[in-house]
Amino acid sequence: MRFLSPLGSTRTQILSLRQFQTNSIRRESISTIHTSMDATEQSLRQSLSEKSSSVESQGNAVRALKASRAAKPEIDAAIDLLNKLKLEKSAVEKQLQSTISSSGNGSLNREAFRQAVVNTLERRLFYIPSFKIYRGVAGLFDYGPPGCAVKSNVLSFWRQHFILEENMLEVDCPCVTPEVVLKASGHVDKFTDLMVKDEKTGTCYRADHLLKDYCTEKLEKDLTISAEKAAEFKDVLAVMEDYSPEELGAKIKEYGITAPDTKNPLSDPYPFNLMFQTSIGPSGLIPGYMRPETAQGIFVNFKDLYYYNGRKLPFAAAQIGQAFRNEISPRQGLLRVREFTLAEIEHFVDPENKSHPKFSDVSKLEFLMFPREEQMSGQSAKKLCLGEAVAKGTVNNETLGYFIGRVYLFLTRLGIDKERLRFRQHLANEMAHYAADCWDAEIESSYGWIECVGIADRSAYDLRAHSEKSGVALVAEEKYAEPKEVEKLVINPVKKELGLAFKGSQKNVVESLEAMNEKEAMEMKATLESKGEVEFYVCTLGKNVSIKKNMVSISKEKKKEHQRVFTPSVIEPSFGIGRIIYCLYEHCFSTRPSKAGDEQLNVFRFPPLVAPIKCTVFPLVQNQQFEEATKVISKELTSVGISHKIDITGTSIGKRYARTDELGVPFAITVDSDTSVTIRERDSKDQVRVSLKEAASVVSSVAEGKMTWQDVWASFPHHSSAAADEQE
Ligand code: AMP
Repeated sequence: MRFLSPLGSTRTQILSLRQFQTNSIRRESISTIHTSMDATEQSLRQSLSEKSSSVESQGNAVRALKASRAAKPEIDAAIDLLNKLKLEKSAVEKQLQSTISSSGNGSLNREAFRQAVVNTLERRLFYIPSFKIYRGVAGLFDYGPPGCAVKSNVLSFWRQHFILEENMLEVDCPCVTPEVVLKASGHVDKFTDLMVKDEKTGTCYRADHLLKDYCTEKLEKDLTISAEKAAEFKDVLAVMEDYSPEELGAKIKEYGITAPDTKNPLSDPYPFNLMFQTSIGPSGLIPGYMRPETAQGIFVNFKDLYYYNGRKLPFAAAQIGQAFRNEISPRQGLLRVREFTLAEIEHFVDPENKSHPKFSDVSKLEFLMFPREEQMSGQSAKKLCLGEAVAKGTVNNETLGYFIGRVYLFLTRLGIDKERLRFRQHLANEMAHYAADCWDAEIESSYGWIECVGIADRSAYDLRAHSEKSGVALVAEEKYAEPKEVEKLVINPVKKELGLAFKGSQKNVVESLEAMNEKEAMEMKATLESKGEVEFYVCTLGKNVSIKKNMVSISKEKKKEHQRVFTPSVIEPSFGIGRIIYCLYEHCFSTRPSKAGDEQLNVFRFPPLVAPIKCTVFPLVQNQQFEEATKVISKELTSVGISHKIDITGTSIGKRYARTDELGVPFAITVDSDTSVTIRERDSKDQVRVSLKEAASVVSSVAEGKMTWQDVWASFPHHSSAAADEQE
């Protein structure tokens, strides 16, 4: 989850979007938090630096003996000792290298694995670099036929799991968005990353990525750095998200980081807005942007959706659509792209009641959670019971907890490995001041832990921002059965006095005074009464001003109210569909030896739910009888909605199985008679024999989860994979 502008904690800052601070790096999930250095690694680095000094001083001793023409036995003994020390040094080096690799920092195996996955995905057209014949454009990818099928399966399960289950209101808004909307949301001013330029060629790089790469490479590959230096690099990795442009620039200079391609010097970091700008209509007078997220389309429709829902809270709206971000230097393949599909939910709730009626459905779930305390104390993620995490306040409220549980179920049912999925809470400095709590579903891949879903309680921030800019009240009402007498805080800034004192800054001071909450206002009132003057921080001015008693009147007044009007809070789960799909590819990919044992065959072990094609049909040999039977099965599979592919190539059945395994097809029907067929299950390679008539319905039941493969195995004559291998 990314917030546009984390601010300090002063509540008076919740006023307007003009109050964003200058520090505007987008918040992105950091993959690992190192607050304390791993003890083994530290002691090995220490020992290596001692061994290196011993080798150096023994080398000097040998040279000195030789220079002074010492006796041969004395020189030989010194050389023996030198060799022994060198051996000891190299043993420690090896140990350190393997510690670094096994602690997850080692990148060689992960890169080899990734290469195998990516090669298969590209070869089988799961995806294609866009505009490939024109050498492509970084960060843009096409989905090929199996990729489209997987995406469509993921999205239809998403609709079923979230929209259908919760009766959400689905909307579909344009990608082209007028500037005013994104000005209100803060994107025009603050949707930025810090960029540096190669001073000679003008090539652009993301500043934090260069610093991250430098520190990671030093930690992984440079065995000579001291334990202290290694700890420093780990600390930099942990806190760099908080660096101001100046701090980031200073670190880049301190470490002598240059442009990766040319080694030329780099400019100072400066903010680059990631939105693609355009203009709407031929006049060019209406500025617009390609939306960087789908959420704003929902917020601006809140009033109509609230009425559509019978003016009842809570309710959720959802949208699936393309989002555009002009990423500075997209790497990481499908994970960081310039156009991607987002699926977002905005669940609107009364801020005074964030309980969820269905929380008990998920409260017993246990999975890896990584609360902020564990991150800060250098611990790792641990299995927690969701119900307990909410009861203890680790997760801020039931609704947020409910969505965390539902996201866990969604991802694991898709086929994400539950041991490589964790929910990481944002650290206080990662969250915007208005956010109540935020958790990212992070999935481990060969690139490390990747944020795939952000689940945030954004309080009333977005609706307030659009209310303020548009002048349309985006609020909800609670009608009281009986009128209630309520005490209302009334803050009246005395504009004349404030104008005299603050001149051009009067408006900023007035806005900040009006935005005080009750506690702040009553404290100010008390101080003004006792001392006549108070220091007051105005965040739009970035400084304290002195407020005198005659500049503001603060009181509480009793009023009868028939209803409560309030801005709803919003809880937002935001799914990066492409990232989830890529992680799924990695989690489902495996290899197994061919029957002859002479090559490794690739298998995507997709659950039937997401498999691009559910079934392949092969006539064993090409003859009219089998071809007729194949046509019958194909027609029946189509009529029960099961996607399938017919393979009539004359290659061996083993090769045909290997081809469909590589596409992740879970079932294969081999037509080897005109009355019955075999059905083979991809992962076990086990086979059952069923009648021709039943084949389509058996495959459909097991592909749609109405039957398990075990049920099928128990109900029909079968033979195991070993026997099946004989046949292949
Ligand atoms: P954000 O609004 O930045 O929290 O992004 C919401 C979700 O979009 C993230 O959890 C990611 O899964 C996904 N996402 C963000 N940026 C990109 C990108 N450049 N390429 C692909 N997915 C992205």
